Amino acid sequence: MTTQIVYSDDFSKHNSIGHPENAERLIVMMNEVKKSSFYNELKFVEPELLPEETLFSVHSNEMIQQIKDISSQGNSWIDMDTYVCESDYETARLAAGGLLQLCKNVLHEKSDNAFALVRPPGHHATRDRSMGFCLFNNVAISANEISKEGKKILIFDHDVHHGNGTQYIFYDRKDVMYQSIHLFPHYPGTGDISEIGTGVGQGYTVNAPLIHGNGNNAVSKLLDEIFLPIAKQFSPDIILISSGFDSHHSDILGGLKLTSDFFGEMIAKLQEIQPKIVCTLEGGYNLNWIGKCLISQLGQMVSQPVTFDDSAIEDTDVEPVIDKIRNELNKYWKI
Ligand SMILES: [Zn+2]
Repeated sequence: MTTQIVYSDDFSKHNSIGHPENAERLIVMMNEVKKSSFYNELKFVEPELLPEETLFSVHSNEMIQQIKDISSQGNSWIDMDTYVCESDYETARLAAGGLLQLCKNVLHEKSDNAFALVRPPGHHATRDRSMGFCLFNNVAISANEISKEGKKILIFDHDVHHGNGTQYIFYDRKDVMYQSIHLFPHYPGTGDISEIGTGVGQGYTVNAPLIHGNGNNAVSKLLDEIFLPIAKQFSPDIILISSGFDSHHSDILGGLKLTSDFFGEMIAKLQEIQPKIVCTLEGGYNLNWIGKCLISQLGQMVSQPVTFDDSAIEDTDVEPVIDKIRNELNKYWKI
């Protein structure tokens, strides 16, 4: 097995002290990776800058120009949540470019699976707006590029927040499926069960809005009864995972109750659908736990599962959500 990792110290240039999405996040994760039992098995890859023209195939000219202008002038804010640093036009393209390299490598069997340890994150960035700590939509840019090779892509998003940007970029397409678990209601407010796609994309967006306190058992049931059966019928050529560790029970911006071991268990379940998996970092803000969540996923990817002493009391009530999703999507899929 080969597992490639994209990482660069340059991602630390995107930083705002006191902001939850700060440079410390990747530093603590890398420290955890360095002391892991499988560190020598990982293959580190230097990210390459995403070409400007590739950005234009997902994002609007105005949005790209806005980031370019702000980052050339110094540090500033796009909205109340989202900061832009000097040279972020390069840093954000390095994050997107790094993920795209890994996707191509896994798709073309130069690596079995891969993890993009990149910042800034991306899943809230829409076609024409940077928001929610995200500048460019890394996972959408990669999925869109791979789709040009005629491949089918499943994006599975387990961040505690709904990936509104990713959802709407592919809302009218049937070659890129978007599946998400997220706390609801919660930022950014989207991700209702009735949001299933439009036109030929109907049935290719699957949302599971979860209640405060749902954890491993609820998500496990959703995977077994909804997400995996649909994914199997969709039969993706590659799975991209928006790895948000803010669905861990300890997260300051969360409300779900997943334990660190469960992040690896989700990978194990998805590997049964398609072993070609590339994860990309989204949220996750508890510096004591995000490294362990990452190790749980990487351990599964290198076939050396790691467990941690970590538990949470959860609300297992998820049947109403499963029933509603079934009603909404059973005309498209056997569920
Ligand atoms: Zn999040």
